[in-house]
Amino acid sequence: MAIDKKIAKEFENAVGAEYVSTRPDVLLTYSQTASMAVEPVIPSAVIRPANAKEVSQILKLANKHRIPVTPRSGGSSLQGEAIPKPGGIVVDLLRLGGITLYENLRSVTVGAGVTYGELDKFLAKHGLFLPVYPESSLVCTVAGNVAVNGAGVGSSLYGCTGEMVLGLEVVLPDGTIIQTGSEANPNSPGPFIRYAFGPDLTGLFIGSLGSFGIITKVSVKTFKRMKYFDYNMYGFDTVELAEQFLIEIKQNDINGLFTSIYSGEVLDLFMDMLSEELGFPPFEHAERTVSMTIGRVREDMLESDAKLAREICERLGGRVLNVREMPQQEWEGRFWNFVRASYIHGWHWRTLYHHQTPTNSHKSVDIIMDAMDKYRFLGHTAGFQSGHSSMNLYPHLYFDPQDKDEEEKVVKAHQEIAKALFKSGAVPFKLAEFWKDAIEDMDEYMDFLKHIKNSIDPNNIMNPGVLGGI
Ligand SMILES: Cc1cc2nc3c(=O)[nH]c(=O)nc-3n(C[C@H](O)[C@H](O)[C@H](O)COP(=O)(O)OP(=O)(O)OC[C@H]3O[C@@H](n4cnc5c(N)ncnc54)[C@H](O)[C@@H]3O)c2cc1C
Repeated sequence: MAIDKKIAKEFENAVGAEYVSTRPDVLLTYSQTASMAVEPVIPSAVIRPANAKEVSQILKLANKHRIPVTPRSGGSSLQGEAIPKPGGIVVDLLRLGGITLYENLRSVTVGAGVTYGELDKFLAKHGLFLPVYPESSLVCTVAGNVAVNGAGVGSSLYGCTGEMVLGLEVVLPDGTIIQTGSEANPNSPGPFIRYAFGPDLTGLFIGSLGSFGIITKVSVKTFKRMKYFDYNMYGFDTVELAEQFLIEIKQNDINGLFTSIYSGEVLDLFMDMLSEELGFPPFEHAERTVSMTIGRVREDMLESDAKLAREICERLGGRVLNVREMPQQEWEGRFWNFVRASYIHGWHWRTLYHHQTPTNSHKSVDIIMDAMDKYRFLGHTAGFQSGHSSMNLYPHLYFDPQDKDEEEKVVKAHQEIAKALFKSGAVPFKLAEFWKDAIEDMDEYMDFLKHIKNSIDPNNIMNPGVLGGI
């Protein structure tokens, strides 16, 4: 139901009448995101502020009227994080633009509405890049990815998006505007260090899924844009050898920017769907195949890394496949064509992002494959290295949205998978609501998180329930 007219007027006074909408077609549009497996919810209004001050006024009003608020940027999140709450408003942040480069500080500040696509285009002109970006880069914002602490292409070397952040401007649920990192000092020349002024409060908002406040500006590191790449695939007869390869790549400081691991059967599925469209040559799948892009700013360093990677592979008894097309597609971020193909074929899917250690990554594959066998539906899982010692895995379960029984079965399977993953030692990559029943025996930690939420958001207006049920 649309918001009360008098309250709508108060929001209009804050941001201008043309930026508050209660039109049914607009509300319908904002009821859904890329999270196809989560039921849409029609919001009561959509508000589009232009700056932090307007965001602050919106949150003050939402508090006064106890209205739930869902921040939304690109709407590309996949676990229901940006789906509105019943009776709640959506705050669309795409009008908060602006890019400021601090070339000597090797950093850049962007408004909450700036997408990776826009930022990359800007940085490329300066010979720079932000080396971690999700495969949804053309539509997803940097702030949105910080809010979910995403990871993606580049993460195998640089870690999750949070590792790139130097400071944030945030509007707290009561409307207070704060700045974290070195820029908290009003005399600072720009973003140059995150860990300043005592404990790091920036981290409170990274991965908070919009439930602790609204990020209005993000300052991140920039790096010299790499020019030299080596793309290759490496096949191994056992899971253990492939996992050992990943560890040795790290131990030898080989610059694997994006290092993914596929089980043979998953690769079969990918190849059936995509190889022709993307021009991958036929090749013999191994029990586990590692696809890796090595990147360097200097050619001599690249040659040395690529040679060493081949030597490690062969010493472990693996074989260098010399298939370049697939890692190249992954690095250039176009592997999302696979996702696009799923959308086009009308499939819906649920995902359960998580991190495992390299030597436990096969456990995720076993858990998802067992669930697929048990419930008899299609799915896949693959993973990439996402930091110092972790693998990011993303099991996708496909279902026909017209078939309610099948959808229920997928939800049930998903809950079982979440529990099994947690027991196997995995940790959530994004602490979405999907995890809430799977997390056990860590009440003290979860209570601490709830205390923090209660103290900064006593009326629980900010995206309630989204952060693992909090
Ligand atoms: C094809 C495809 C590929 C993808 N690949 C990846 C990938 O490689 N890696 C990855 O991490 N994710 C991936 N995703 C998921 C998604 O892109 C990321 O979660 C992305 O970061 C979401 O950003 P967004 O701007 O779309 O945010 P939204 O979806 O609008 O919001 C995401 C969450 O953050 C909150 N939020 C948004 N903006 C703010 C803000 N300014 N302040 C506070 N809270 C905010 C929202 O309330 C919500 O909880 C993919 C999605 C698609 C559709």
